[in-house]
Parts: sequence; structure tokens; C-alpha cells
Amino acid sequence: MQKKERVFLSSPHMSGNEQKYIQEAFDLNWIAPLGNNVNEFEKDIAEYNGMAGASVVTSGTAAIHLALRLLDVSEGDSVICSSLTFVASANPIMYQGAEPIFIDSEPDTWNMSPQALDRALRDAGQNGNLPKAAIIVNLYGQSAKINELKSVCDRYSVPIIEDAAESLGSEYNGQKSGTFGDFGIYSFNGNKIITTSGGGALVSNNKEALEKSRFLSTQARDKALHYQHSELGYNYRMSNIVAGIGRAQLEVLDTRVEQRRGAFRRYQESLGSLPGFNFMPELEGTKSNRWLTALTINPDQAGISHLDIIDALAERNIEARPVWKPLHLQPIFEGKEYYPHDINYSVSDKLFKYGLCLPSGSNMTLEQQDSVIGIIQELVKLKQPTS
Ligand SMILES: *Cc1c(COP(=O)(O)O)cnc(C)c1O
Repeated sequence: MQKKERVFLSSPHMSGNEQKYIQEAFDLNWIAPLGNNVNEFEKDIAEYNGMAGASVVTSGTAAIHLALRLLDVSEGDSVICSSLTFVASANPIMYQGAEPIFIDSEPDTWNMSPQALDRALRDAGQNGNLPKAAIIVNLYGQSAKINELKSVCDRYSVPIIEDAAESLGSEYNGQKSGTFGDFGIYSFNGNKIITTSGGGALVSNNKEALEKSRFLSTQARDKALHYQHSELGYNYRMSNIVAGIGRAQLEVLDTRVEQRRGAFRRYQESLGSLPGFNFMPELEGTKSNRWLTALTINPDQAGISHLDIIDALAERNIEARPVWKPLHLQPIFEGKEYYPHDINYSVSDKLFKYGLCLPSGSNMTLEQQDSVIGIIQELVKLKQPTS
């Protein structure tokens, strides 16, 4: 059998317009660091999500780091963070020498549990040590229960950073994901729904804070001819070439959302009735971009585990992955505080134990999706106990 082309979990999908903006930058010799593409990309992002502005940077991680700086998080402070997420959500807390407090998921969105957050903030309030910020993640494109989380945070005056790295283009009550907190962040890493090859954005309605973000991300240079610095800065600003890719990618974002949602729908229609298979829910009033199709597989009912599926797909050169390993289970965060959904029950532990992400790239062909579906159906049929 001929070796098939590898199918990735989520790979870059260019629109064809990227070269035009890159060429513009070359023609004007605006290669870096500033230029028209950066300004226009910032405007485009703000316009797309209905916010006052954006500050584009080299990665989503950098955007989170800047948000923490802008909220004055420093050594000895604590910061709330979703546990079921990619490590980049929490690493910037450590960069600032602050302490993460991890919060479990709830079952309806797989995102931060409002009741666990409430317990965490009550405890912190009683100790007179409220966290400086809360990083709320929208996993795999699905918005968290933002209204409930916001009302808990508001009660304790804890500012919100919405980690919308995976949920660009998603909606909550008709409003764009990433626009609900004091700051929102997006990622344009290679595996995200749109990509600039690598990059990120900080969004906010606070124009002054965004101006400060641009200052901090260009080495915090004071207004002087002689390179004077009175604050710690970073080299985080997005280059004009990279921003050119972003402009073209943003033009096709809504199409990419529909393509990813289409992949989810096909997987769910074909596999959703298999015993023990449960697809990630979509909360009423929200629209997920379905960045990755995620589901849980109960091996007692299915006769196979999510790892069996990953192995079977890998044999055919198709990439699938377990869901993120929760941060409270990561060696690097051993001993950090963790608040499960119920005092005796952790939802994210269970999602990790059974959770699977299927290849979901918007550039996958229907044949490739069908082949994923067929492999899984076959596997379940083989392993079903005959009764
Ligand atoms: C990808 C991702 C990030 C980090 O974005 P980078 O651009 O890769 O630095 C942060 N949070 C979440 C939830 C992500 O998935």
C-alpha cells in the first residue's frame, strides 16, 4: 500500500492572499519592526471583535505575559488560571514570580467551574490575599460560562484575562470570544484556527493599556534620543511581514470557523451514537469555532480507549491526541493550589482520562475525514464484546 500523506491535528491553511501583503512590505522596505501591516492588522482585529484596539505581538504567550504586567502582577502575588489548558496559559504567571491557583472545569463547557472559582476566591478573601488576576481559557473554541465567572470575579474585584487563543471567531451571546475580560488574548501559532506562522494579540477597550503594551513590547524605551530605560521591557512586537500574513488570514476566519464546525458535525454524525462516545458540548447561546473536535470515550462501554484510537490512526499516518493534561497534574506545577469542581470530584481529571482530539484542520479533505471515521468505526466493531 502506498504511504499516505500525513494528516495533522491542525495545520496551517493559507488563503492565497498572504503574499500580496508581504510583497507590499517588501516594496516599501517596511520589513520590521513597524509598518503598515502591523497597524492595519491591529485595526482589523479590533474591528472584527468590536473592541477599541489590539496590540500584536510575537506569540499568545507574550500577550498573556503583557496582560499580567499591565495588571501589575509581581512576585508573591497569586493568579487564578484554568487547569485544563495548554501550559502557555500559566507559564507567564511563573515569569512574573507569582503563584498560580488552578481551577477545575465544569462538565457543560469543559471550562472553568464558577463554583470552584467561588470557593477559591472566598478562601483567598478570608486570608486577605486576593489574586491579582484570573486567566479564563476557552478550550478548543468553546466559551467558558463567562457571565457566571465574571459575576464571581466582580464580587471580589479580580480582573479577567480571557485566554481566547483557541477561540478566535467563537461567540458568546452573539459577542466575540476574547472580548469579555479586562484583556483578551489570541494566538496565531501554526496550529491555531488562523496563523501568522507565529504570533499573538492582546485586545482591550483600554486604549491607554494597549499603548503601554506597545511600549513594553518594544523594550520600554523612554522618550529620549539616547536609549533611556526606566522600566523592564521585552522584545515582543510583531514584525510587519508576519502581520501581513495575519491580514490575509483574518479575511478568511469566518470561513475557517464554518469549515471546522463542518468537520465536527461530520464526526459527530458518524461517531456520536457509538457506545461510550460523547462529543464536547456546545453551551446554549454560544457558538464554538470547534478549533479541535474533542470527545470522551468510556472504554467500558466502547470496548476501546482513546489511546487505542490514537494508535490505530497513527498506523495510518494520521495524528490524534489526548486532551490537554490538566496543569494541576503537571510535574512543573506540583504542589500548587487546586480547586476541583466539587470538593471530592475533579472534572478535568476525568476529561483527561477519557478525552480525545481528532484531526480538525480546515484543509482536511472529506476523504481524509471519512478515513478517520472509518478507522474508528472499524476499531469499535472489532472490539465490541459480542453479546
Ligand atoms: C496556543 C495557546 C496559547 C499560546 O499561544 P502561543 O502563540 O503558542 O504562544 C495560550 N493558551 C492556549 C489555551 C493556547 O492553546
